[in-house]
Amino acid sequence: MDIAPKFRPFIVAIDGPAGSGKTTTAKALARDLGFIYVDTGAMYRAVALYAQRRGVSVDDREEVCGLLPDIDIRLERMDGEQHTLLNSENVEEFIRTQEMSRAASDISAIPCVREAMVELQRRAARGAMGAVLEGRDIGTVVFPDSPCKIFLVADASTRAQRRKLQLEEKGMDADFATILREIEERDRNDAAREHSPLRKAKDAIEVETTNTSIDEQVSMILGLVEKRIDQFQKGQTG
Ligand code: C5P
Repeated sequence: MDIAPKFRPFIVAIDGPAGSGKTTTAKALARDLGFIYVDTGAMYRAVALYAQRRGVSVDDREEVCGLLPDIDIRLERMDGEQHTLLNSENVEEFIRTQEMSRAASDISAIPCVREAMVELQRRAARGAMGAVLEGRDIGTVVFPDSPCKIFLVADASTRAQRRKLQLEEKGMDADFATILREIEERDRNDAAREHSPLRKAKDAIEVETTNTSIDEQVSMILGLVEKRIDQFQKGQTG
């Protein structure tokens, strides 16, 4: 999809809780629209991994803030997939564990971490024709002026079932009850934190995905986004 130079980068914000289908949706949108894809959760996961490796507890906010100048995070495309580089090391396999999901949720509540990651996320979109960012605060904090915001929701047990399948596909252990408990805990953490809690932006379109297959979800949202881009460009250009 072509975006007139004056509207670049066109930002598509995809927010929602864990397991709501953000990743599959955002990747498919980016591919079909020719936009870049930015997985903002991977950035929080990489910070959490760095803290763990340095033996710093996520509860020690000052220590965590002190680590930030030593952390360089890049998201790069290799073999058609996005990989997370932490100080030049590909850490994709280490950041996707349940342990890092929990640690990322805890570390993301620290204001200095959020400020640094938001800056990185804004920079990641610079220079692109368009960008699809997925996270918890893209439409509310990172790009509040985005003309295209989607907020995905689904009930917790559906999300836990999806997460179980994803982990199994990666060859990781997955107990449904444990995943469900952790998802509910992360929902509470992400929604209750003081700084940039998970919430729907006023102008976001809410899409309920509990009873929708992922293919239906993707094609429905792609239709919505294409229409929005078209309306926006026409409206703005008269
Ligand atoms: O999306 P993902 O599950 O990889 O995110 C891991 C954690 O990072 C989330 O539970 C959330 O606490 C945090 N996060 C965030 N803001 C974002 C993206 C992720 O707080 N934009």
